[in-house]
Amino acid sequence: MIIDMHTHINNYHEDRVISLKGCLDELTESMQKNKVDYSLVLTSYKVNEHRPSTKQVVEAIKGYDNLGVVAGISYLNYNYKDIIEISSFLDQKLIKGLKFYPGYEPFYPNDSRLKVFYDMATEYDVPVMFHSGDTYAPTGKVKYSHPLHIDDLAVDYPKMKIVICHVGNPWIRDCMEVVYKNEHVYADISGLVLGNFSEKFERFMKKEIEEMISYAGDPNYLLYGTDWPISNMDSYLKFMNQLDLPEDKKELILWKNAADLFKIDVSKLKK
Ligand SMILES: [Zn+2]
Repeated sequence: MIIDMHTHINNYHEDRVISLKGCLDELTESMQKNKVDYSLVLTSYKVNEHRPSTKQVVEAIKGYDNLGVVAGISYLNYNYKDIIEISSFLDQKLIKGLKFYPGYEPFYPNDSRLKVFYDMATEYDVPVMFHSGDTYAPTGKVKYSHPLHIDDLAVDYPKMKIVICHVGNPWIRDCMEVVYKNEHVYADISGLVLGNFSEKFERFMKKEIEEMISYAGDPNYLLYGTDWPISNMDSYLKFMNQLDLPEDKKELILWKNAADLFKIDVSKLKK
């Protein structure tokens, strides 16, 4: 069983417009090819012709048993209607988590402006995900996306489940301390490459991830995600395979941790 808990259906090649249905078809095709049983689609902090809104994605994936949605929220631009919409989606179990984009937007995770969302996430017991580490765009400000800032939030919200995306790359050591210290903080390995791993980079990252597990212990905090379509699924599975870990630990990362954390009903997925 494989759960990819970090994918997007944004169109990153903005020279042409691709329909939402077209993006979803590409995603499910890639899942099928790589035997991925379930994916979470994370919406953006921006909405435009290349980036569908949470509402559009929630509508579009109705009828797919193998897809779920995590709602991207803009720190700068949310309004009272967004708060109402998110709480209603949570209430109807139409979204499985919230995602914020520090770095892409200038704020630290423990900003009081976001308290309303953190209280909702705690009440509905859904994880809150944070972009962390390097930004895909040079216009990002990476002091805001340093994983160490997650510790502040984790201490102040001990009941809220938190995911540090991209293991805070390149600040993986800081990320490992934050997940080691805070039981309710998780990390995903998504988005470590554009496209495919090169051999050299794969060797480098293998060592980094193995070091993280040596330090922070059994990987019950580590989640398999790709950041598809930014990173390719086949190359990511290859990367997972060559990690020096017993099979049962790999299974934690590949699906068990995500199934528990996001409350994904895997009994529906088994054919
Ligand atoms: Zn992403």
